[in-house]
Amino acid sequence: MKATDSPSLPTLIMQANTNIDVLIIGHGLAGATLATALEQLGKKVCIISQPMPGAASQVASGMWNPLTFRLLLKSWRVDELLPVALNFYTAESARLGISMLQNLDILRIFPDESADIRWQERLQEPAFEAYLSPEQPTSLPHNIELKQKQGLVKQAGWLNLPVYLQKDRDHRLVDGSLLEQAFEFNDVHFSPDGLRWNNICAQQLVLCRGQFERHHPWFNWLPLKPAQGDILTLHIPQIKLEQIYNAGFFILPLGNDRYRLGATYEWEQLAAGPTAAGKAELLAKFETVYHGTYEVLDHQGGIRPTVADRRPLLGFHPAQARLGIFNGLGTKGVMIAPYFARQFAQVLCATGTIEDEVNIKRFKKRYEQHTGSRWNDVAL
Ligand SMILES: Cc1cc2nc3c(=O)[nH]c(=O)nc-3n(C[C@H](O)[C@H](O)[C@H](O)COP(=O)(O)OP(=O)(O)OC[C@H]3O[C@@H](n4cnc5c(N)ncnc54)[C@H](O)[C@@H]3O)c2cc1C
Repeated sequence: MKATDSPSLPTLIMQANTNIDVLIIGHGLAGATLATALEQLGKKVCIISQPMPGAASQVASGMWNPLTFRLLLKSWRVDELLPVALNFYTAESARLGISMLQNLDILRIFPDESADIRWQERLQEPAFEAYLSPEQPTSLPHNIELKQKQGLVKQAGWLNLPVYLQKDRDHRLVDGSLLEQAFEFNDVHFSPDGLRWNNICAQQLVLCRGQFERHHPWFNWLPLKPAQGDILTLHIPQIKLEQIYNAGFFILPLGNDRYRLGATYEWEQLAAGPTAAGKAELLAKFETVYHGTYEVLDHQGGIRPTVADRRPLLGFHPAQARLGIFNGLGTKGVMIAPYFARQFAQVLCATGTIEDEVNIKRFKKRYEQHTGSRWNDVAL
């Protein structure tokens, strides 16, 4: 099937207008990192985005953790992904003139004896040396029950994602590379020479719409399995916590006795905003370990764009080579986004390839069953 034959991908003769290379839809973490990665390779981009309830990046606590705690393993490809992420955000901090990155150890509270034993075993393994501290924490939080043993995770921290996106937005509104408005799918027209959306002519369109993508037929065959999450901001004057506390839930120090408490995972009821049930769950967990005063300052909720196989989604629509997607950042978007934004940017510059593990082509069968069309390996 030729791309232009697709009934859902309309065509039009291009008219002279504003010319750019890549039109990006969505200014969350995916859209922002891809735009910068493309600009670093000399491409001209424009982002169309507008705030929508349920967007993940506006509420995310932005933490990265080099480990997964259940079996105490390294996080997926952490040795490759983390250095790229830290370099990227450091360069972005300099570009935007802000401080948005903070390294902070994680104070892991072992849930049981076997977790402690596993921790001692991992401490002997060279592969974990960079991430597990053999030292005990020098300072412990106040008014928190610490009956179980603890360990310290190194090379963790958090990115102030809302501040990053706000600053990037401010810069882009000034230089015209971000338009704050709704992207209407019916207004895009593909032609053999490119595509047009209103007065913008581009070579490529890349959708970076997080969990919102599951509602539109172009990519609704991809197995997005979104997870709603609630998160609270608390004022806890007596806790004096200096690391990220993790006991199945987390307490993240923000400074000035303010902390983030999170996060819930709700896979069935996907509320676009915060929920009373989520708040109650978080406070119940918090109050089982913390005995002191606190005040709830804020309560937010959003939906994570998680994928069935927990891998990001990069690729091109099998019926339209000019239509790409960068999505599926899931629960660890901060660590994953820069590496794959760079990979996708290189592909869009015809200097790289998409790895099979993250290429949407891995869902070829789902596409064919869902649409009744054969998968086409489109060429840029
Ligand atoms: C409670 C919670 C806590 C989290 N904590 C962490 C954490 O600690 N660490 C971590 O790494 N990750 C965390 N995450 C996950 C992280 O937020 C996501 O991986 C990441 O933010 C996803 O970014 P995105 O750009 O794909 O999607 P989004 O942030 O949802 O962005 C999509 C954007 O597209 C826009 N958009 C969509 N459709 C249109 C349209 N038609 N027109 C205009 N604009 C449109 C939306 O408004 C939105 O701005 C958390 C998520 C949640 C919900």
